[in-house]
Amino acid sequence: MTPIRRSPKRGGIDLGGTKIQAIVVDAQNTVIGQARCPTPHDGGPEAVADAMAAALREAGSSAGVEPSSLRGVGVGSPGEVDAATGAVSNAKNLPAWTESFPLGTKLSGALGTRVAVGNDVGVATHAEYELGAGRGHDSVLGVFWGTGVGGGLILGGKQWHGRGSAGEIGHMVVKRDGARCPCGNHGCMEAYAGRSAMESEARRRVEDGEHTDLFKLMAKHGKPRLTSGIWERALDHGDKLAEQLIARAVKALGAGIASAVNLLDPEIVILGGGLGVRFGERLSPEIRRHMEKNLFDHEHPPEFEVAALGDFGGALGAALLVA
Ligand SMILES: [Zn+2]
Repeated sequence: MTPIRRSPKRGGIDLGGTKIQAIVVDAQNTVIGQARCPTPHDGGPEAVADAMAAALREAGSSAGVEPSSLRGVGVGSPGEVDAATGAVSNAKNLPAWTESFPLGTKLSGALGTRVAVGNDVGVATHAEYELGAGRGHDSVLGVFWGTGVGGGLILGGKQWHGRGSAGEIGHMVVKRDGARCPCGNHGCMEAYAGRSAMESEARRRVEDGEHTDLFKLMAKHGKPRLTSGIWERALDHGDKLAEQLIARAVKALGAGIASAVNLLDPEIVILGGGLGVRFGERLSPEIRRHMEKNLFDHEHPPEFEVAALGDFGGALGAALLVA
C-alpha cells in the first residue's frame, strides 16, 4: 500500500462563546482559506463539534484542500482541556458543556485527519510569541480582555501551564472583598474588567436609576448582549456610564497586570481578546499608565503591545499545535 501523502497545509479552529473561526494555513503559516460561523447555542457539544467540522471544511474548500489531506487540525478551546486525549470539560460560555466531551476524537473522525486540542488563551499567546507581537522575546504575558479576562504565559521560551490552571490573570485580586466575580470570589480583576461583569454592573446601575444608551444601542443593533462594538459606539456617543465602567475596567486591568509583572518580570505584555483588540489603540496607553503606576521596578517597565494577529490569533495558535 502506498502511504497517504499529507500536504504541509494545516487547519486551525478557534472555538469561542459567540463564534467559531476556522482557517487553513500553508507551511509558512500564511492563511490561505478561512470561514467563520456563530457558535450553536442548542444541541450541546455535539452540535458545536458539527459546526466546527463544517467551518473547517468550508475553510478548506476556500483554500482548495480536502480536510483529510491536511497534516492536522489544531483547536483552541475554552474550558479544561486534556491535551493528551483532546477531551474538553467545563467549557464556560458554551451551553450545556460541563461533562467531559471527546472533542478531538469527534473532529478527527469527521475530518479524516489528526486533531490536537489546546487551551484557547494558551494557543493565542503562543501564536503571538511565534508569529506576532511577541516575536524575539523570551518571556511573554498575554492578557486576553473579552467576556472574561484570560492570561497566557511564556517563560524562558516555553509555555507555562503550572498544574494545568496557570495564567488565570482575570482572577488576580485587585480589591480585597470587592465586587463579586463570575467565578464566585470577590474583587477579581475580571469582576471589574470582564465584559460579562461590566454588563451586569451596567444593568444594576440602570435599576438604580442611572442613565445610559448602552441597552438602547444593544437593541437597535439586534445584539443579545453588550458586545465590544456596542461599548465602542457608546463611548463614541460620549455615554457617561459607559465611560465610567470602561475607566473602572482600565484601572483594574492596570492593577492586575502590574501585579503579574511584579511577580514574573516578563519582557513584554501583549493585550488581546475581543475588547483588547477593539480598544487596543484607544485604551492601551491608559492601561499601560495604570500598570506602570503599580510596578515595583519603575525604571524597567516591560514592553506593552496590542496583539498583532488580531482576530486570527486564536486560530493561528491552534494551527501551530499540529506544526
Ligand atoms: Zn474571579
